[in-house]
Amino acid sequence: MNNSPYFNPERETMTRQQLEAFQLERLKQTVRHCLTNKFYQKKFKEAGITADDIQTLDDVRRLPFTTKQDLRETYPFGMACVPLRDCVRLHSSSGTTGNPTVILHTQKDLDEWANQVARNLWMVGLRPDDVFQNSSGYGMFTGGLGFQYGAEKMGMLTVPAAAGNSLRQIKFIKDFGTTAIHAIPSYVTRLYEVMQQEGVDPRRDTKLKVLAIGAEPHSEEQRKRIEEMMGVKAYNSFGMSEMCGPGVGFECPEQNGLHFWEDYYIVEIVNPDTLEPVPDGEIGELVLTTLCREAMPLLRYRTRDLTRVLGRTCPCGRNHVRLDRMRGRSDDMIVLRGVNIFPIQIEKILMQFPEVGTNYLITLVTEDNNDQMIVEVELNEPTDDYGKLQKLSQEICRRLSDEILLKPKLRLLSKGTLPVSEGKAVRVVDKRKVYQ
Ligand code: AMP
Ligand code: ZN
Repeated sequence: MNNSPYFNPERETMTRQQLEAFQLERLKQTVRHCLTNKFYQKKFKEAGITADDIQTLDDVRRLPFTTKQDLRETYPFGMACVPLRDCVRLHSSSGTTGNPTVILHTQKDLDEWANQVARNLWMVGLRPDDVFQNSSGYGMFTGGLGFQYGAEKMGMLTVPAAAGNSLRQIKFIKDFGTTAIHAIPSYVTRLYEVMQQEGVDPRRDTKLKVLAIGAEPHSEEQRKRIEEMMGVKAYNSFGMSEMCGPGVGFECPEQNGLHFWEDYYIVEIVNPDTLEPVPDGEIGELVLTTLCREAMPLLRYRTRDLTRVLGRTCPCGRNHVRLDRMRGRSDDMIVLRGVNIFPIQIEKILMQFPEVGTNYLITLVTEDNNDQMIVEVELNEPTDDYGKLQKLSQEICRRLSDEILLKPKLRLLSKGTLPVSEGKAVRVVDKRKVYQ
């Protein structure tokens, strides 16, 4: 029985120096492995480099970037670095435009992935006698199987509840003595609403103590709300199918950023325009290189997620880099009348008003040849006090325009009006006219 606060003590508590030596060794192996594949052979040729050019960790910057477009163009198996008979699973993203993407896994890849997830769950205090309910979609979405195998590896009784059907979820939580749940943040708030309707108080009527929330951007304010509602700690979990799925980065009990596991990835933050590294503390695009993948290693994968380095040490004893919560993806950025806005900025303001709920929708429209933003959010309590509503609306609008530098139209709606999605929440609908 492991009595340590760490799941993999040796790897989790390496010094920076040990970690970097480990990374360099793994990077060299990964590059050689990639070069068994035609796609990488061509890329290296174009970049004029060979495996021997990788002598220090900084040499990672000499490697070519890879992108989602590369995955699409080589669909389905063009980036595999092992024969297909050595692969045991694939995950695929739906892909709204063009080909979907495919990520292949060998058995060893799956074992490592489970190890990463187990490490995270152990890190936030879960132990084999806990009961873990996974309320995220199963199937191609990696949040299902990813957490399932990780929680099992850790030794917990694992309930593959999957997404939706809140009444059944609540019954499971009560009947099975669930102590930890993984769900996307927008679903946790939905679950809480149904608990309220059913007269279930999570503090009084359940054994819940930990939530893992992730898969979609959410603000610190949203997390605090979730913690208050459910009466438990909620830890941010970052995952990405291309890297494996959940398990890539996770908060420790200090809740001071996400530890990204540097024994599994080389983490770079670059300026998305110049592709040059940005200094620690500055926001840029997250670029990840896998260090342990057999079936489909990825070199310098441009995630499009925007974040920054917060530190490289932590009171928890882990020296794996700490990254700030994702500010959003560069593709999610709204450009309205020349102003750049991230949905999370709007969420941050809305969540500061206790009168409104956590479900909101941003719609972009063209009215009288003018592009406009409409922000819709649900009220927590019904009210017909028009004066009060007007004052609230003015105050929210004022705070929003301070934050995003333009004034949106605000609609306060009654609870249950906005659509709730079972998967990742849809926060922005763009109905603007496009002028040629
Ligand atoms: P998928 O591969 O479909 O699971 O989507 C991965 C993407 O989900 C990432 O690139 C992020 O944009 C987003 N994502 C995952 N986890 C988080 C998180 N904890 N915070 C913000 N965004 C996240
Ligand atoms: Zn820590």
